Amino acid sequence: MRVTLLSSSRASNEVLVRVAHPDERDTDADLIAEYAGRICYQSWHKPNPATRRNTDYLANILEQGHHSVLEHTHAAFLIEGVSRHLLGELTRHRHAGFSVESLRYCPPRDYTLHPTLAEQENPMIRRVLQESWRTASDHYDWLYKYLIASGYKIKEAREAAAQVLPLNTSTDLVASANFRGWRDLLSKRLDLTANREIRRLAERLLAELRTLAPNSVQDITLKEQA
Ligand SMILES: Cc1cc2nc3c(=O)[nH]c(=O)nc-3n(C[C@H](O)[C@H](O)[C@H](O)COP(=O)(O)OP(=O)(O)OC[C@H]3O[C@@H](n4cnc5c(N)ncnc54)[C@H](O)[C@@H]3O)c2cc1C
Repeated sequence: MRVTLLSSSRASNEVLVRVAHPDERDTDADLIAEYAGRICYQSWHKPNPATRRNTDYLANILEQGHHSVLEHTHAAFLIEGVSRHLLGELTRHRHAGFSVESLRYCPPRDYTLHPTLAEQENPMIRRVLQESWRTASDHYDWLYKYLIASGYKIKEAREAAAQVLPLNTSTDLVASANFRGWRDLLSKRLDLTANREIRRLAERLLAELRTLAPNSVQDITLKEQA
């Protein structure tokens, strides 16, 4: 699994001039959130010393649940090498946008290794996975060729043959959301009750968001497995 940042919100001069603190190195995304908060109360002069710094200001915003200020910053990620099972879970999050590799146009390339299977030392595990992938791929190829020979278009043959592919078929996608959306997704998928594969993805996303907007996600912590 690989997560690569594709784009994120940049603060304009208007934001920087109004809220950037000369002694702090706050990120664009954190400053945009502060700007959105300060417009509500026209508190540009930062009257409260306790919330003068961006980190304290956003800590207070998060504590109060004033989360709409986090809807003005976005981040888009390339997510590579995740299972179709994870895809089904990820796309349940209605505040995110997705563009996914199509099995109607693209042939299957590989399979993914679920974290629980990856940590098994028994060599039979890998053998079982390889065998089941090879069988599925062979069946896919056979169906695809059969349908092409029967006169179906490539797209039609691929979409039908793909029905025999397993849930661990690897896929790539682009996912984007505003920071409120990302936070909500992380609150559900970082939980220890979440599927370990999507939890791993959530951990990677959190690491990226911490770089982009540390103060906007300062309250999110990783839970340890007992
Ligand atoms: C551990 C775990 C196990 C799960 N198991 C299953 C399962 O067995 N079967 C299954 O089908 N799903 C399962 N899910 C998926 C889950 O039900 C949600 O679909 C998924 O987590 C997306 O979150 P969400 O629906 O809260 O909202 P999102 O779409 O991410 O939206 C975020 C928030 O916006 C609000 N919102 C969005 N749309 C609406 C709406 N139409 N009306 C009112 N408020 C809205 C809600 O407050 C929501 O929490 C599981 C999720 C987790 C984390």
